[in-house]
This record gives sequence, structure tokens and C-alpha cells, in this order.
Amino acid sequence: MAKQTVEYLVVAPHPDDAELGMGGTIAKLIRAGKAVAVCDLTSGEPTPFGTPAKRRKETRAASKVLGLARRVNLGLKNRALDTTLAARTKLAEVYRTLRPRVVFIPYWRDSHPDHLAATQLAIEARFHAKLTRTKMKGRPHYPERLLFYYCTHFRSHADAAFVVDVSDDFAAKVRALECYHTQFYDGRGGEAGAVVEYVTTTARYWGSMIGRACGEPFTVQETLGLAGLNDII
Ligand SMILES: [Zn+2]
Repeated sequence: MAKQTVEYLVVAPHPDDAELGMGGTIAKLIRAGKAVAVCDLTSGEPTPFGTPAKRRKETRAASKVLGLARRVNLGLKNRALDTTLAARTKLAEVYRTLRPRVVFIPYWRDSHPDHLAATQLAIEARFHAKLTRTKMKGRPHYPERLLFYYCTHFRSHADAAFVVDVSDDFAAKVRALECYHTQFYDGRGGEAGAVVEYVTTTARYWGSMIGRACGEPFTVQETLGLAGLNDII
């Protein structure tokens, strides 16, 4: 994990949200030779069966499965994520240091307050990162594109702007998710693995929408430009 800058950055409220929402796309980008980083905003703890140490270990294992160039944790407070100026500055410094062209952030409708705050914070940090004459780390940087991925707790149909074919990378996504034992398996009895099963069902559904085995949905707020039409399925 030595690369200094990346082309793609995924901002995640908790470790496992990046994998849940777009693990297949991350694996696909990396397989295509792209440098991808994940910035988890919080430790994700406490949870019923996790500890900070276990979560760090699980996150490291999942990062290795995906082949991430970098994974950082901002150390903001889980269950109390807030859009403070201090938090905005911290995330802006990550943008200025890693200098991604594209930042993936959580979809804006969610029932989890940390997720809602993460979306807002990631948008605010984009503008903040380009400021000059500040004491922030790194040089001014404005990520060109914000793309929204779905790791939402809100039970509604994703209004996708586009779907990425992740058929060849879905197995890697599942392997990455399986690293998060405390979140999806431990102490869950008959429900162990139910989340991974749900993610699989959803991926097959989105795959069916584009005539492929597995897909991951994304959306945008700004107009999305295409360099060409060769990749339209
Ligand atoms: Zn989360």
C-alpha cells in the first residue's frame, strides 16, 4: 500500500460500507490497473460482536482481497458523525493528499445518521479542499467528479443513473465481505451470512437490469460526461 496518490477514492462512513456498496466496482477498477483508496470516516465501533482491534484486522484483510492502494481511517466518532468544520478539514486534507480525480460517496438518502453526515461531509470537503491560503495539509485539489454509491439503510429502490457490470469481480466482493466476520457472521445463528446473501440478490437484480450476471448501481447529482460510447452495454 505504498502509492501516494490515487485516481479513485471511496469515502465510507464505516469500515465495510465501501465493500457493501461497491466492492465489485473497486475490484474491477483495480483489475484494470487503477489505483483506488478507501477513506473510512469512523472505526464503526461499538457493535454487538466487534472490537476496535478486530475491526481493524477485518478491514486490513478486506483491503488486501480488493488490492487497495491505500486505506485510511479518519478516526471520527462512530454513531456521532457530524459535519463540523474540523471534520470537513480532516477529509479535505485526505483529498488534497491523495488527489483523486473521482470520489465515490454514499447515496444521500439514508436512515443512518452517520451515513447522512458522511454524504454531506464528503460534498463539503470537496469544496474545502481547493482552498488556498490555509494551514491545511497538501496542495489545493478539487476532485472532478462525485459519484454516489448505495450503502443505504433506507429501504427504497435505488434510482440508479448507471449500473457497472461487476460479473467478473463479484466473487472478490464476496471474499472481501466475508472478512467482516464480526459484522455478518459472529453471534448471528441462523442469520449468519444473511447480509452477504442479500447483497448477492441485489447484485443479481441489478445485473438483470443490464443483461449481465451482477451489477452495482450508482447515481450522480452533476451532469455526467462520457468520453465515448464504447462501454455502453
Ligand atoms: Zn455504515
